[in-house]
Amino acid sequence: MTSIKCHNCAERAAIRMRQHRLSLCRDHYIEWFVEQTERAIKKYHMFTHGERILVAVSGGKDSLALWDALWKLGYDADGLYINLGIASDANYSDESERYAMDFARERGLNLQVVNVAELYGETVPQIAGRSYRGRNKPCSICGLVKRHEMNRVAHDLGYPVLATAHNLDDEVAVLFGNVMMWQTDLIARQSPVLEESAGFARKVKPFIRFYERETAAYTLLRGIPYIEEECPFAEGSKQLHYKALINKMEEDQPGLKLAFYVGFLNAKEKGAFGDLQEAKKELVLTLCANCGQPTTSSGLCAFCRTVNPARPPG
Ligand code: SF4
Ligand code: ZN
Repeated sequence: MTSIKCHNCAERAAIRMRQHRLSLCRDHYIEWFVEQTERAIKKYHMFTHGERILVAVSGGKDSLALWDALWKLGYDADGLYINLGIASDANYSDESERYAMDFARERGLNLQVVNVAELYGETVPQIAGRSYRGRNKPCSICGLVKRHEMNRVAHDLGYPVLATAHNLDDEVAVLFGNVMMWQTDLIARQSPVLEESAGFARKVKPFIRFYERETAAYTLLRGIPYIEEECPFAEGSKQLHYKALINKMEEDQPGLKLAFYVGFLNAKEKGAFGDLQEAKKELVLTLCANCGQPTTSSGLCAFCRTVNPARPPG
């Protein structure tokens, strides 16, 4: 069997991307990946070189790839690791933190670490166990805590931009789920960039056009160590189920995922899901009496109602 050659040189290809009809060797793939990251940042007007960026890092392949690509592009990007207190045989949260810290140390980068149990007296599974009386997985509480802490740290430390490493597979799975349930308000809000509001950071997703296997290939080819274990609560999630279904369709029709997502963004730009600015005006936001973050409820926000409000650091 003849090996496939890189599109740009005579080297053996390290990756073949059927959806782009492109095969590249290690060096040209890394170069391509970093260039594509910059293209997405510019295309969706995410941020500029003059702005400080806080990158949410989980210790996994996507978020470390994002921090690495931004570092290579010369952006002023610090990391934020939120230790959720999720234990497992492999000590999931503490191990993830170690990968994030090693990554930062090797590059001389600045990593902010938040430990939920140290700040609020309980781990995420403990908060969830109390709120649900142990009936459900902690994922919705986990999402609430992560969003709140990302907002808080970005606000308190003066970062105007908060970057997360959601990739195309993540975005398509969320969109697919929202379409299945016709969650029109959520569909209208899904976007590569969410502008700042009430003094809280702009949220950006520079990896939204990358397939998951492309971010994985980048991490691997760059030799970045990352936590390979999944969160023990991820198993059996709807998101994983949707991803598996969509991957099956992609096998028969390479490029389908990207076409679905780009088609959605184009339709959105043409106003297919209503005027987001108008929808925002209708959404009445007040500021939480305890933490000051924007909320749709009067009084305390969902985070402060759920997590012991006597403890948070304002
Ligand atoms: Fe949090 Fe784990 Fe659920 Fe992800 S899978 S939301 S990390 S509890
Ligand atoms: Zn609050």
